[in-house]
Amino acid sequence: MLRAVGYTRVSTGRQAQEGISLEVQSQRIAALCAEQGWELLDIYQDTDSGAKWERTALQGILARLGRDKRAVKPFDIFITYKVDRLARSARDFYEVLHRLEQAGVAFRSAVEPHFDTTSAWGKALLGIAAIFAELEGDQIRGRITAALHRKAEKGEWVGRPPLGYRLEGGLLFPDPQTAPFVQAAFTMLADEHLPSREVGRRLTALLGKGPTYGGFSATDVKRLCSNSVYVGDIPWNEERFPGKHEPLVDTALFARAQAVLATRMTRRRDRDSPYLLSGLLRCARCGGPMSGHYHSGTRNASGLRKINSIYVCAAHASSGQCAGSYLFTTKAERLLIALLGELYRSSASEIRDLPRISNSQPTREALESRLRTMPKNFERLIDMAARNVISNEELAAARKRFEKERAQVEATLHGLESPAVSVPQTRRRFRDLAALLRSSEVSVQRKRDLLAALIARIDWQRDGRDVTLTLTLRD
Ligand SMILES: [Zn+2]
Repeated sequence: MLRAVGYTRVSTGRQAQEGISLEVQSQRIAALCAEQGWELLDIYQDTDSGAKWERTALQGILARLGRDKRAVKPFDIFITYKVDRLARSARDFYEVLHRLEQAGVAFRSAVEPHFDTTSAWGKALLGIAAIFAELEGDQIRGRITAALHRKAEKGEWVGRPPLGYRLEGGLLFPDPQTAPFVQAAFTMLADEHLPSREVGRRLTALLGKGPTYGGFSATDVKRLCSNSVYVGDIPWNEERFPGKHEPLVDTALFARAQAVLATRMTRRRDRDSPYLLSGLLRCARCGGPMSGHYHSGTRNASGLRKINSIYVCAAHASSGQCAGSYLFTTKAERLLIALLGELYRSSASEIRDLPRISNSQPTREALESRLRTMPKNFERLIDMAARNVISNEELAAARKRFEKERAQVEATLHGLESPAVSVPQTRRRFRDLAALLRSSEVSVQRKRDLLAALIARIDWQRDGRDVTLTLTLRD
């Protein structure tokens, strides 16, 4: 008899009454075990207070697992009431699944029968569902940002006023007490060429205390002296909108400060490597990973070298142990996108073979996705408050809205049954993944994360000019 353990997460406070109770979650887990003939060893429980979610019980369960599939396991199946009970982000979710996988423990969701890692398509779906949960989170974050964006567009300041200004009715006015210090900071940096740290030390002395922790750091000074609010802009993310306020420094001084900061800026390592398939793509000769490189070709008629970017066998590049293979990055990436589209079109029949999937309740999916994303949105607001983009009062108000909305969503969900993903929706998601890889809006780093969550390796073969890619999905 296979042995199972259950895992539930309950929200404390008001949601506990309106949300999905521990009893309901436990009953569903027990029912699944009874139905499948599994022995239910125990049900573990974590509480979630909203802002902070300590997954003590979950960590305890995972800590009991070994890293050898052949070793004796404390249990065979891990059951959670629902996937959203388990993790808040795709990253957390994969951490848990990966640990279970390492120990050879199967994962099941009590009310989402298609989340069954014992089937190959269940595994693929898990990956895709988690990826899109995260993407949907980004879209909601985008909407919050859009509201603040509109405010900035109108020339209004969002959040606490910057040093040197006071805020009245959404508009900035020079603060006669502190405005001179802002001008002094610019002069010290741009004309006296003082190090940022020294400017900070002097500002701290002049003002008595710093913006946050009682002192201006070098970073605070750099931030202050690169803030275009002081030349009359409302900076918002990467954009600058014309403000309605009076500038504190003239544009020439501001430009000199930017020039000083630019020359001092140390070259940051480019974390966003442009190579989408680094590590995923396998050498056609040795099967080892390939990495992206620039390759300067022969000189053309005007004496300029053409720069190509290619994937090269990493073993070949580092030690020459493999005779090596290479593939143009554009070709590899184009083929992958085509292959994803094809793969997902051809998978239609397998998707239909999955345990019964409902076609009728799009709202449930939307609700579940909101439940997963709301804590993230709130975390983003905490972040914004920490960076003084919004005030603590605004944060407190947002927190109330957040708690209320979550309670409502959980209560609505409680009334629904049957699983989330419909067949056409699933197929659309497959197609969306290919579209996402083509999008220039999504960073390469992000695309690489999404791909790595789904694909374990990509092998390729060359036959004359023809290149064939073979994908291995994560299992
Ligand atoms: Zn090789």
